[in-house]
Amino acid sequence: MKTVLTADELHAGVRRIAAQINAHYQNQPLTTIGILTGSVILLADLIRLIEMPLRVGVLQARSYHGATTLRGELTIYDELMPDITDRDVLLVDDIFDTGHTLHQVIQRMQDLNPRSIKSLVLLRKKGRQEVDMEPDFVGFEIPDQFVVGYGLDYQDEYRNLPYLAALEESDLR
Ligand code: 5GP
Ligand code: MG
Repeated sequence: MKTVLTADELHAGVRRIAAQINAHYQNQPLTTIGILTGSVILLADLIRLIEMPLRVGVLQARSYHGATTLRGELTIYDELMPDITDRDVLLVDDIFDTGHTLHQVIQRMQDLNPRSIKSLVLLRKKGRQEVDMEPDFVGFEIPDQFVVGYGLDYQDEYRNLPYLAALEESDLR
């Protein structure tokens, strides 16, 4: 594995986005919704740096890839999410790759009539985007490689690494 961002670099990035969030929303109450499971570390670090009155919720987005299909239907589980009607909502995800996950989650959330909805991602992969939207707050742009750590997994492992690493051929199974 090759380190892409150290723990210190990640924390500096999170402080940078938190400052943007504080400046953007001022003292307006905010509802952050973390997209499970990849956003848990980011969410925990980020919310402690947010200064306005804050509510925190989570949802899970899971896409099923069949043997013959490249992209399965995205299933969104929102049972653990607080009511977002008339709220300012900030969706938090680990990584913006093709963008389909965030795009579909935003469309679904819009049906619940939030006052506003914005999105934040720790990472954005270059040259992979397939949707016509941009996340509002981005921590880091990274090259197109498969990364793990700081919440991101490979086959459900490595989420606990305090740094971000790119997997190499020998790490794959
Ligand atoms: P998208 O829908 O934007 O293509 O993909 C977003 C989801 O794919 C992320 O939330 C994450 O779960 C997964 N993903 C995309 N790229 C990577 C990567 O490099 N590493 C890991 N661990 N997950 C990724
Ligand atoms: Mg994810």
